[in-house]
Amino acid sequence: MIRIYNTLSKKKEDFIPLEEGKVRMYVCGPTVYNFIHIGNARPMIVFDTVRRYMEHKGYEVNFVSNFTDVDDKIIKKANEEGVSSEEISQRYIAECKKDMEGMNIKPATTHPLATQEIDGMIDMISTLVEKGFAYAVNGTVYFRTRRFEEYGKLSHKNLDDLQAGNRSLLVSGEDEKEDPLDFVLWKPKKEGEPFWVSPWGDGRPGWHIECSVMSKKYLGDQIDIHGGGEDLVFPHHENEIAQSEACCGKVFSRYWMHNAFLNIDNKKMSKSLGNFFTVREISEKYDLQILRFFMLNAHYRSPLNFSADLMEASKNALERIQTAVDNLKYVAEHAAAVEMTNEEAAKAEEAKKYELNFDAAMDDDFNTADAIAAVFDLVKFANTNVAEGSSKAFAEVLCGMIQNLCDILGIITEKKEELLDTDIENLIAERQAARKAKNFARADEIRGLLLEKGIILEDTREGVKWKRA
Ligand code: AMP
Ligand code: ZN
Repeated sequence: MIRIYNTLSKKKEDFIPLEEGKVRMYVCGPTVYNFIHIGNARPMIVFDTVRRYMEHKGYEVNFVSNFTDVDDKIIKKANEEGVSSEEISQRYIAECKKDMEGMNIKPATTHPLATQEIDGMIDMISTLVEKGFAYAVNGTVYFRTRRFEEYGKLSHKNLDDLQAGNRSLLVSGEDEKEDPLDFVLWKPKKEGEPFWVSPWGDGRPGWHIECSVMSKKYLGDQIDIHGGGEDLVFPHHENEIAQSEACCGKVFSRYWMHNAFLNIDNKKMSKSLGNFFTVREISEKYDLQILRFFMLNAHYRSPLNFSADLMEASKNALERIQTAVDNLKYVAEHAAAVEMTNEEAAKAEEAKKYELNFDAAMDDDFNTADAIAAVFDLVKFANTNVAEGSSKAFAEVLCGMIQNLCDILGIITEKKEELLDTDIENLIAERQAARKAKNFARADEIRGLLLEKGIILEDTREGVKWKRA
């Protein structure tokens, strides 16, 4: 039985899906105005792993994750570059998908785009207005927060405390609200911004309504799991609950899961502090499998600190698994005996306990840290019990077990052959040095080596440039 820590109840609960054998899951995706950073990568990796584990347990998972492609930050970037918002969002969706592939994150069943779902948003807002949960003033539509009696149930906030905190935060122009707690569902267009026609005038949706609508459209009125980073609990998810439940009159999501934040060198990641890495930057130094492995070494509800040392440790740890798999494959290929001996069969049986430990860890609110510990126990077991004289079947069984567990975590056990940007640059530097020392044979050898890997060098006046073929 899978147990999930539910932010709603603040407890671990047994996972019972709405429909037997099926999981409906929605995870809030990124706002696409730039390359994603390694903080954004955490929920992607965490919830991809949840999905993979659910699939391993036999569930059919309908996994929906959106791209927020209309937003102030996108508009700002588009204006800076003098291009359309669509060009910006399309560009960074494509880049995000490349990063996801590098991190071995499976594409969602559906990746809806907010801008393609405006009709649904207008419908939901209209329903909320009809039901008295929303009202329009001068082209803006607000949600009447106090009308939704359970408001605050996810973030465990009390309306009156919120009210007290909110009074000083009133932004100018918002005094047209009936109540400072009310939030925006639709906002009127401003000069130079994308807009859509609506019953309340030209404008665009608020952020919260997007997810309520996309979740309803692709998964139905009720879902099993809703996920995202912990910063989304309030107000984003609280508002999603208010909108969806006021509209449909049903419990929106049964389980709410939130990952803790990723920090850098024990500090909050922020652009102004300069301690900020995009996934793309990390990919220049490391295979992104290492980033994934690093993230899964912590429980998703624990804050995680990113540092060069920890990445190096993850690199070494992952290599230990990959080397074990390589060795087992080697033994299997070169084994004299095909069938297992009785003793080996007993050992293979014994190794199953690591699979059980793995599942027990994952059943306990997806404790990937303990699950990885079980993989290492299995690796150690294989390293001690498989040797050159072992049978093909025995080596294959243990190899398959390791690969299977790694696959559930989305960890690829094959060593990556492709050269990283830093490797390429190091080789280019070595080639330059060889040329300077008039060692042209070595210089040519390096050029040939790079060419074999699909890297083309071009000697220009500004120095050596390279590209991937
Ligand atoms: P955003 O593009 O800011 O809406 O963020 C997309 C997702 O990344 C959300 O689920 C955020 O909660 C999550 N997120 C943003 N920063 C971090 C971080 N430093 N650590 C973990 N998750 C984060
Ligand atoms: Zn959302």
